[in-house]
Amino acid sequence: MRARIGLFGGTFDPVHYGHLRLAESALSECGLDRIVFIPAAMPPHKAASELTPFHHRVEMLRLALHDRTEFECSLVEAQLPVPTYTVETLRNFHRQYAPDTDFYFLTGLDAFLEIQTWKEYNRLLAMASFVVSEREREKLAPLKAQLAGELGYSTAGHMWKSNDDRLPIYFLTKAPLTVSSSTIRRKIRLGEPINDMVPEVVYRYIRANKLYQGKAGQ
Ligand code: ATP
Repeated sequence: MRARIGLFGGTFDPVHYGHLRLAESALSECGLDRIVFIPAAMPPHKAASELTPFHHRVEMLRLALHDRTEFECSLVEAQLPVPTYTVETLRNFHRQYAPDTDFYFLTGLDAFLEIQTWKEYNRLLAMASFVVSEREREKLAPLKAQLAGELGYSTAGHMWKSNDDRLPIYFLTKAPLTVSSSTIRRKIRLGEPINDMVPEVVYRYIRANKLYQGKAGQ
């Protein structure tokens, strides 16, 4: 049987229950064997000064994932040339894994709607099936419909299909959580509680390392 591996890229600054809900939904709805979380070392759309140092983001991920054997964290983006483009990360995974592996790339709808700005996005859509969690579903519905037309996919229920080598795109049915990393960073700066938004171990790590208490924008 072919292996089904989920790849979940993000800044994870910090990782939160919204990320974990997306991963759990993808695992069960798409029947994945496991999910590799891939923290971005230096994503093309963010300045280095905006990001918490890589080792802190990785450590928070490790803590958040340690009790789920199906979830792991990859440091591959720290080894690739910067800025790191998802298509290069995917090429790296295709090289490392057996040819009978199918890859599923997890995203929120907000990120997926930007797909046409990603490097070699049509190639990317042929290298992994995108699995999309419909964050802000009502607000983004018109843009989603527009994107299907622009990319030339036909829509069938929770799936989009192409008539070329691009793989199907799946939309998860389980509702996402509304939490975001930027909300968490803002709440910490304002001294508001965040402990229902991140696992307890992540909360303790943030406190112990005094993360996110600094200047606005962080
Ligand atoms: P920020 O608020 O700083 O933009 P974020 O919460 O969106 O951060 P990222 O690490 O940038 O977190 O997100 C990684 C991926 O996870 C993106 O594809 C994003 O759309 C998705 N994602 C993040 N939070 C959620 C959520 N609550 N529900 C569904 N998808 C999410």
